[in-house]
Amino acid sequence: MTELRSYPPPDQWDDVVEFDPAAWPRKKERHYSLVPTVCFNCEASCGLLAYVDKETGKIRKFEGNPYNPGSRGRTCAKGPATINQVDDPERILYPLKRAGKRGEGKWARTTWDEVLNDFAKTIRAAIVEGRRNEVMYHVGRPGEDGYVERVLQAWGLDAHNSHTNVCSSGARLGYDLWMGYDRPSPDYANAKFILLLSSHLETGHYFNPHAQRIVEAQEKGATLAVVDPRLSNTASRADLWLPTYPGTEAAVLLAIAKWLLDRDRFDRAFVERWVNWEEYLAAERPSAPRTFDSFIAALKEIYAPFTPEFASKESGCPADRIEKVAEGIADAGSRFAAHVWRNATAGNRGGWQVARALFFLNVLTGSVGVEGGTLPNAWNKFVPVPPLKPPPQKVWSELLWPPEYPFAHHEMSILLPYLLKEGRGRLAAYFTRAYNPVWTNPDGFSWIEMLKDESKVGLHAAMTPVWNETAIFADYVLPMGLGPERHDTMSFETHAGEWLAFRQPVLRVAKKVTGLTLGTNPGEVWEEDEFWIELSWRIDPDGSLGIRKWFESPYEPGEKMTMESYYRWLFENSVPGLPAKAKAAGLTPLEYMRKFSAVEIRAARYGLHEWAVVGAAVDPATKIASRDGKPCGIDLAGGVVAGFPTPSRRLEFFSSTLAAWGWREEAIPAYTKSHVRREALDPLEGGFTLLPTFRLPTQIHTRSGNAKWLWELGNTNPLLMHPRDSRKLGLKTGDLVRVITETGYFVVRLVATQGILPGIVGCSHHFGRWRLHEGSGPDRWSSALASIEDQGGGKYRLRYAQAVGPFASSDPDSRRVTWTEAGVHQNLAFPTHPDPLSGMHCWHQAVRVEKAQAGDRYGDVMADTAKSYAVFQEWLKLTKPPPGDLRRPMWLARPFRPAPEAFKRTP
Ligand code: SF4
Repeated sequence: MTELRSYPPPDQWDDVVEFDPAAWPRKKERHYSLVPTVCFNCEASCGLLAYVDKETGKIRKFEGNPYNPGSRGRTCAKGPATINQVDDPERILYPLKRAGKRGEGKWARTTWDEVLNDFAKTIRAAIVEGRRNEVMYHVGRPGEDGYVERVLQAWGLDAHNSHTNVCSSGARLGYDLWMGYDRPSPDYANAKFILLLSSHLETGHYFNPHAQRIVEAQEKGATLAVVDPRLSNTASRADLWLPTYPGTEAAVLLAIAKWLLDRDRFDRAFVERWVNWEEYLAAERPSAPRTFDSFIAALKEIYAPFTPEFASKESGCPADRIEKVAEGIADAGSRFAAHVWRNATAGNRGGWQVARALFFLNVLTGSVGVEGGTLPNAWNKFVPVPPLKPPPQKVWSELLWPPEYPFAHHEMSILLPYLLKEGRGRLAAYFTRAYNPVWTNPDGFSWIEMLKDESKVGLHAAMTPVWNETAIFADYVLPMGLGPERHDTMSFETHAGEWLAFRQPVLRVAKKVTGLTLGTNPGEVWEEDEFWIELSWRIDPDGSLGIRKWFESPYEPGEKMTMESYYRWLFENSVPGLPAKAKAAGLTPLEYMRKFSAVEIRAARYGLHEWAVVGAAVDPATKIASRDGKPCGIDLAGGVVAGFPTPSRRLEFFSSTLAAWGWREEAIPAYTKSHVRREALDPLEGGFTLLPTFRLPTQIHTRSGNAKWLWELGNTNPLLMHPRDSRKLGLKTGDLVRVITETGYFVVRLVATQGILPGIVGCSHHFGRWRLHEGSGPDRWSSALASIEDQGGGKYRLRYAQAVGPFASSDPDSRRVTWTEAGVHQNLAFPTHPDPLSGMHCWHQAVRVEKAQAGDRYGDVMADTAKSYAVFQEWLKLTKPPPGDLRRPMWLARPFRPAPEAFKRTP
């Protein structure tokens, strides 16, 4: 008889005994090795514990790893469903090379050797011949922190592309302009009032780790308010739901700011000490007295129009509810935690101003960087320095960072098809990794046109564990490991505290293999870390290009770097406190991380902006302190302290950078009218704002199509419409409707529900997976067989030929598939809307909804790439190129940052 427990203690992890449920009622023992790793199904990086059956050598199941400080043993539904992905009969097991034209669906098995040699030759030629910007690595969910950036910098290339401008560029710019950090880290667990512009209790950013801490705070009495036009599960659990019309969120937030200012319910001392109000007065009100009172008077004047009634009129949210939220925030004071990540910042033109307006509330309440407040992300995230760090690249790729977007927070990846079409460059070697732009990005048909054109994209490898809509247009499909089949380090700002997690290939660890991961995973599934080392050696076999040296063992120069030597060095040298913790446990640092897969680095640290700085020179005019020519603090009453990494070292209500670069009207938190503003639409004519941005709890973009349990839980994405609107249009639940966008339409089934505001329609971006060929396309659990009809002149129609249904495979469950609809792929019918400042794709669409026409079929998507290109050009006209020869403000974060000289544009 053993006591009940939530997980087996680690000293038993080498041999955990459970009864085999399939043998019931017999009591048949099964023996397991438990190997911890990290979930790869979303960015939260929760800890998983793999049960490896000692008899079969296979993974039996995944549970939560209690030693991961972020997730604390808990997972969402997608964590345990990792076993479906490992056992998926549809997964790719061997490297493949196309045997026909791109997209034709003909593939032949190839060898890793051929893949490596082909890419090594192409990349080496690009480097040697001075065509460095012809190599591009394009990643969706990175699932790692800095490994590939190190590889690309070792190659001397500005080749890193991301998915961020279909995700979070908007929020990042808003936060960065305020505090020099591009993400918030709300201390939910200690907050008294939580304001979410998202649905964190069911999905959202750092979903499971955040949700559990929000619930904890609620249990301790915190008030939860949720801004969302949809009655999400999160909104339904909130104390206050603020249903707002999309794009009006900033009006509501600024009304709250006005409420706090008018009633003197703000933290006067904090604002006076930390906001760059003197800079604002000097620049914008030079004749006003240079006093704090004068600044407060200016704020009251600026935000005077934002009465609760005005905000209510704009947003549709009742004025008394807005006031109630304001009162709750005022009462909470510095214990006010707030978060926006995608949501409104990713939906609307000017969405970054929503983040500006939200953080304004943190600034006014002094809830910045303090317990129960909202902290900069970097205070709660740890990125270890890797061994042998190469210097930054000296080149700048204008395919990724075009001159029109000096404030783009990340690479302008959504523009790649248009920039190539305009002849701004070409790609000799293109890697897509855990990324599916044909499906994920707007205007997927333009991506197909680009990928099929060998004059624009020379050699394309899709690095992916599973087929996707983009891989079918590649030259090579390279099977890379799923979460439990690869090494990575991860750390995120899940709470007030810092931790590092170690993702590891479970079977390699269980079998105690110290060679390559290749061979321990199913088939010839490899992992990226080892692939990049091998490719780098082949690009520079004799070391003459200066590349190979970065991929030699940090312990034995001249020997090839291995996973053991890379991570051993990293854990021995770069993680504070780990060597001591490991020693206390009688382990080496690498053994410790293999055993527990995570380490807590520091408990909560608050108030780092007030940390004293010593030995720095202070500029008497600006009060900014510097060391070795680099700003490091600010001289305030009481001495020199660290401050924030902004140009003023303060929180920047007024962005002198925006003003100097031609955006004076946007330099303070403001209400920018969205491209889907309500006055431009007429519901009587079938005009709506389409909300396509929301996630579902059991799906994760295109990475979960290989998880049968998740598809059984939810498998379709109807169009949600308020009954008042559906009645007006003569529609009812179950009807097929056409949703008409600027560039095409899609045909979807309607559900009338009071869970969405009138005037808005919603359709989750999950679902709508399709495959063009049997045997080489997304999993049959999730995709419908489809065809693409090229109608000429840039017009295409996707049409389903066969619904989802039972299929034959090695998994008997595949014959038991009960669902039939694949959902509808709406992104194909969206043009690209790059916000002129942040570069964020503004996802919301102004659409018309009407009854489906004769001949329309469920799942039809029609789009016109010529129209999409015209829309791109229209949005391009909204941009303002840099005023001087700098490509971008030097202080502003730039991922994969090049050397300073690359920031200068040469004619
Ligand atoms: S929230 Fe769910 S999907 Fe995301 S990492 Fe955690 S368990 Fe995995």
